[in-house]
Amino acid sequence: MSTDCLFCNIASGKTDTPFLFENDNLVVFRDINPHAPVHLLIVPRRHIRSINDLTPQDDAILAELFFVSREMAKQEGVSESGYKLLFNVERGGGQVIFHLHLHLMGGWERKA
Ligand code: AMP
Ligand code: ZN
Repeated sequence: MSTDCLFCNIASGKTDTPFLFENDNLVVFRDINPHAPVHLLIVPRRHIRSINDLTPQDDAILAELFFVSREMAKQEGVSESGYKLLFNVERGGGQVIFHLHLHLMGGWERKA
């Protein structure tokens, strides 16, 4: 873990960011500057800089990010209406926090 990494600090509970879900491997919290009515970040606890830094040993965490995202979409009520899952990769791809995170965005047409 890197003490100057914001998402390491959030994931290790050093901030007051509330988690919508957490387990041994990852945490889920709301994006502080949402780009959609529902905008969550699914974040591995372990520091991985970006998609470019994944290794074959990361198969399991990568799969878990997607499976948990699917469950979070259900929990947030956007599963049926639809949602986007997005990784920004490095500066040119719009990444500004260099700790891997999956964006879940939806809710534009959420049924009440
Ligand atoms: P990216 O551009 O993919 O690196 O996305 C980083 C995201 O983190 C942005 O959408 C920010 O709004 C979000 N963010 C930055 N700081 C925080 C924070 N303290 N809590 C929650 N989300 C944050
Ligand atoms: Zn980190």
